[in-house]
Amino acid sequence: MNKTILVTGGAGFIGSAVIRYIINNTDYKVVNLDKLTYAGNLDSLKSVSKNSRYKFEHADICDKEKVKIIFDRHQPDILMHLAAESHVDRSIDGPSEFIQTNIFGTYILLEITRNYLTGLNDKKKCDFRFHHVSTDEVFGDLCDRDELFTEDTPYAPSSPYSASKASSDHLVRAWSRTFDIPVLVTNCSNNYGPFQFPEKLIPLVIKNILNGKEIPIYGDGKQIRDWLYVDDHAKALLSVALKGNIGETYNIGGHNEKQNIEVVTTICKIMDELLPSKIKGIDNYEQLIKHVDDRSGHDIRYAIDAGKMLKELNWKPDETFKSGIKKTISWYLDNTDWFDDKKRIQK
Ligand code: NAD
Repeated sequence: MNKTILVTGGAGFIGSAVIRYIINNTDYKVVNLDKLTYAGNLDSLKSVSKNSRYKFEHADICDKEKVKIIFDRHQPDILMHLAAESHVDRSIDGPSEFIQTNIFGTYILLEITRNYLTGLNDKKKCDFRFHHVSTDEVFGDLCDRDELFTEDTPYAPSSPYSASKASSDHLVRAWSRTFDIPVLVTNCSNNYGPFQFPEKLIPLVIKNILNGKEIPIYGDGKQIRDWLYVDDHAKALLSVALKGNIGETYNIGGHNEKQNIEVVTTICKIMDELLPSKIKGIDNYEQLIKHVDDRSGHDIRYAIDAGKMLKELNWKPDETFKSGIKKTISWYLDNTDWFDDKKRIQK
């Protein structure tokens, strides 16, 4: 019988890429459990939503009764947990939702899984996996230019977002150790690609260029992030969920370290070619860049050593930053509706 994968946060940027990938490349069933916060958008799943192997459940992971009903109804073989509040700036303005969803919500899922496992037969129990999807931001800042985050790097989160994700990682490992829940944890670097909410750097820059608005850059823009194309992350996640060793952590990254300013100027240059400026007084889009006060607690550098993914699971990204960013910009230019705020609010 086909496995059933329950994906939390499947209407979000990465969750929707995971669901599209599973439906298009496997014969598994997928249940998407999502609260549809401002960041969730079912339009991202239009290409697969009519598939008989796809089901949507509108629910909050903090709602224990409802999540339990969803587990009982669909009897998942694998849980891929991506639901989260994910934007660092929002976590600074209002941490409460981050504590609620990222920490309490993960606790609820762990408790429901614990209870669910007691009712399964030995084979299904033995095969079950709780895959917790997390971020490299739990490791904090890398000061040394050559250092990389490995699976053994100690946690040192800097923002309410990364602290809430770090807490959830700890809960997952504790529930594994104490209650014998078969878990897998992945910590990934910055993702980019189609269907990302336009508050994050790359879609925001494209949106502002299209609207002839200033492009804000925090501080000097020299913060370094390791960029991974979202479909490469989706493939990595499925590979961990299916083949990863229970109890292990896997770091996922793109080996594409770029300063934020470099990312922004690259987008400006590509857009100059694809859609030359018609804005009065603006000959090239780099002229729209405006440096603003740095975010408090802003980490300088993140970079991932994804060697374990290659060695143990034979995974490596298909896209370079050069190829991925071109695909990404083309997608947003072909789908400018994505930036339509009115459409989002009516969703
Ligand atoms: P996103 O903000 O685009 O999507 C989050 C999804 O979770 C949305 O669909 C939202 O409706 C849903 N959600 C939020 N709260 C919920 C709740 N209480 N109950 C049910 N659903 C809820 O996030 P993303 O960028 O797709 O990130 C997905 C996961 O990957 C997160 O756990 C994030 O920490 C992690 N991650 C993201 C990145 C990145 O670069 N975006 C990198 C590494 C790890």
